[in-house]
Amino acid sequence: MSDFEGLRALVTGGASGIGRATAELLAARGARVAVLDLDVSSVGEPLLAHRADVTDDASVRAAVADAAAALGGLDILVNNAGVGAQGTVEDNDDAEWHRVMDVNVVGMVRVARAALPALRRSSHAAIVNTCSVAATAGLPQRALYSATKGAVYALTLAMAADHVREGIRVSCVNPGTVDTPWVGRLLDAAPDPAAERAALQARQPTGRLVRAAEVAAAVAYLASPLSGAVTGTSLAVDGGMQGLRLRPA
Ligand code: NAD
Repeated sequence: MSDFEGLRALVTGGASGIGRATAELLAARGARVAVLDLDVSSVGEPLLAHRADVTDDASVRAAVADAAAALGGLDILVNNAGVGAQGTVEDNDDAEWHRVMDVNVVGMVRVARAALPALRRSSHAAIVNTCSVAATAGLPQRALYSATKGAVYALTLAMAADHVREGIRVSCVNPGTVDTPWVGRLLDAAPDPAAERAALQARQPTGRLVRAAEVAAAVAYLASPLSGAVTGTSLAVDGGMQGLRLRPA
């Protein structure tokens, strides 16, 4: 497929997991793709690599400017970098709340702010934020993480309203439990990782975890010219977790 031929994309958190699968899919479909990540040591051709920390405004502005210059402009921003957090409101102190909010929410704002001038010059501009089922599902032991993703959801709608008349579409994907290095790290921390993985799979409506490539395909739809009339929406890629009203045990 070459439906992204001539389009230029920036993917944050693009070195791993959902972001990596998205960067590779957009490139395979003809886009020129730059990755912005804390660690770009694993990122190579055809992807361009730009190291930045989304909590550091100066590094974000420099990386976005470098990426836009290297790509010759910017049409698509995939705002995906994020970190996890576990526990109830009693388990995370103020410093942890500020740290995770800074990455997952303000990080997306910083990247969008830096990218908007270039996106305004595009005749096909789209932003796709990586949200989560946690934004609306009421998951146990995920107070801080859910709050960040609820903010990402609201931010997506507000940005869609602010920029619709500029021709910039803004939507989000809401993944369920995706088999990425992040989830792998959580499972590895359990006393019996294999048993924990089996239990996690059994809790999914489909009986399996979502694949990163399946989230990437949804991101690609929301970023592509095929979704030209779609903005201010969320697309769940969660194996039915939300729509079927099932909850992880
Ligand atoms: P991952 O850990 O595999 O990849 C995340 C990437 O983000 C890494 O490459 C990391 O270096 C980068 N990153 C983290 N902090 C950064 C920072 N401060 N600056 C720049 N880059 C930074 O994780 P993933 O599972 O692919 O998650 C990607 C996104 O998907 C996150 O926003 C996450 O909240 C969301 N998500 C994941 C799942 C899941 O089950 N894996 C479910 C729903 C939503």
